[in-house]
Amino acid sequence: MFNIILFGPPGSGKGTQSERLISKYGLKHLSTGDILRSEIASQTPLGLEAKNFMDKGQLVPDEVVIGMISSALENNPDVNGFLFDGFPRTEAQSEALDELLKLKRTEIGVVLALMVSEEELVKRLLNRGLTSGRSDDNNVEVIRARIVEYHKKTSAVADYYRKFNKVVTIPGEGSVDEIFESLCIEIDKRK
Ligand code: ADP
Repeated sequence: MFNIILFGPPGSGKGTQSERLISKYGLKHLSTGDILRSEIASQTPLGLEAKNFMDKGQLVPDEVVIGMISSALENNPDVNGFLFDGFPRTEAQSEALDELLKLKRTEIGVVLALMVSEEELVKRLLNRGLTSGRSDDNNVEVIRARIVEYHKKTSAVADYYRKFNKVVTIPGEGSVDEIFESLCIEIDKRK
């Protein structure tokens, strides 16, 4: 099993690159943002709780997302590996993920960190808001709040995995193909 974390701020291209990576490497895509949005669409209690945080650009509580990932791991016993997208987003989530993977006798192979300037992020997210139907992409205040959350809580995830020498930084500006190529080179070196 080879497991990857695709890491980076909101708007750095994780979703776009994830689609390509899962099809090339046959990985199971686990995006906490997608799972949360589908819970909201089905109006589950979990979705309704999460929506309050997401609408403000804040992170959903750790217990909620860790529980979701734990079930997703249990429900997918026979996969080549997982591609984590938008998770972990705090140090506590990173520690929980490592424990869950250890129980499955596997681990994170590499953390691929996409680097994109803040101005470019805001531009991309506002642009995505025109078509995505995501209310958190329509409002500059909410976008800025998400970037603040990223700096306050999520950048610690890269520091956590740096201790284990698992982080590779990839420039996230350029064409989708170029960025995909850089990601594949790093994966092929390690898997
Ligand atoms: P983006 O990375 O573009 O902000 P996501 O779809 O990954 O989009 O996340 C959307 C929102 O869902 C986040 O702003 C946050 O409120 C919530 N969310 C997603 N993943 C997590 C997570 N791992 N921990 C806490 N909240 C999360």
